[in-house]
Amino acid sequence: MVGLGRGRPAVSAQLHTCPFCGSDDAEVVSPWGGQLITSLVRCRACNTHFEAIRDAFEPVQPPAPSRS
Ligand SMILES: [Zn+2]
Repeated sequence: MVGLGRGRPAVSAQLHTCPFCGSDDAEVVSPWGGQLITSLVRCRACNTHFEAIRDAFEPVQPPAPSRS
């Protein structure tokens, strides 16, 4: 179940399905995985990292500098 209001991943709103437990409660921890077309994702359900194919190959916006 998703949508508990825990906030969306900053990198992408794309859902990733964990290949180990099948949960889609995963977050992108790095926009770049071992290859350019993959990103590193962590499954919150089983706490396993895996690589997911990037759906859209577009530059990732860096986090906005903190406002003072
Ligand atoms: Zn999992």
